[in-house]
Amino acid sequence: MKTGIVYSDKYLKHFLGRNHPEKPERLEQIIKDLRGSKSLLKKIQIVEPSPADQEEIELAHDKSYVEKIKKLSKSGQMLDLDTPINSDTFDLALLAAGGTASMGRSIVEGEKKNGFALIRPPGHHATRTSGGGFCYFNNIAITTRKLLKDYGLSKILIFDYDAHHGNGTQDIFYSEEKVLYLSLHQDGRTLYPGTGFPDELGEGDGEGYTVNVPFPPSSNDENYIAALREFLIPLSKQFNPDFIMVSLGFDSHREDPLTNLEISTDGFEVLAESVIAQAKRLCDGKIGFVLEGGYAVEASADSALRTIGALTTQSPPDLPEGKPLPVFEKVKDLLSPYWEL
Ligand SMILES: [Zn+2]
Repeated sequence: MKTGIVYSDKYLKHFLGRNHPEKPERLEQIIKDLRGSKSLLKKIQIVEPSPADQEEIELAHDKSYVEKIKKLSKSGQMLDLDTPINSDTFDLALLAAGGTASMGRSIVEGEKKNGFALIRPPGHHATRTSGGGFCYFNNIAITTRKLLKDYGLSKILIFDYDAHHGNGTQDIFYSEEKVLYLSLHQDGRTLYPGTGFPDELGEGDGEGYTVNVPFPPSSNDENYIAALREFLIPLSKQFNPDFIMVSLGFDSHREDPLTNLEISTDGFEVLAESVIAQAKRLCDGKIGFVLEGGYAVEASADSALRTIGALTTQSPPDLPEGKPLPVFEKVKDLLSPYWEL
């Protein structure tokens, strides 16, 4: 079975303005490099997406919010200071959500081994009722809801290692126990959207099912590897998901112009290998990656190709030793009523 890569040239039409960092070149470079890699092309299949319908979007968003985006798309307006809407926005946001959902479906139905949705616009800042931070509809949340509802899955882990906290994804699943949301991100005191602190743990039935590990600026590969050992591996083992979804932003790369983390291209490969290995141990290898941010064009493309390489590899190398950060102890203390870490 092959790795499914969802991609359409239509995603390059999404245009936010000449100097906007969320630019088409981000994705154009990834697909260009991928098409130039003969060894990877043998192991993947590029799949053209179709748009989600409005009902699917409403699995994760209020109808009034979906109508608002549709209406603003006709008139053209700003959703927030960084997130303009134009006449293509609504249709392209539907296509991004639809592409992500079709990737999820193809893996669950056993047509594809695993996958990566190379989509724009991204989604993890979109809450149930609001967008922002370059996001309109929450692609990963819509797909997660769809897999739970239509395919009888009972538990899904969402692992998010975009540099920014996925406040939208957290919001949507905050009171649910079927979805464990684990986010590794730059500390909200130093980066948009200013959320994702360790004491945000979920509520009601979802208490303990939101896990935030904030990293101080300059955190590096070794710090992230330690977080894989201390959080991703034990939490995923205890939660024992049927499927793993990954919000992947390459803006935690050390070359990214918008953030202050220090992950290298090699580090991105280790992160991908580690979560893919967990999917093999826990859920028959069922894992789907979804593109979020990443604004250093070449570094993002290099890291994306390493990630796709990891998806097509049989057995990853052992995880190297890491260097834990003081904040890890605080997170573990807060999680101690729910998980053994
Ligand atoms: Zn980001």
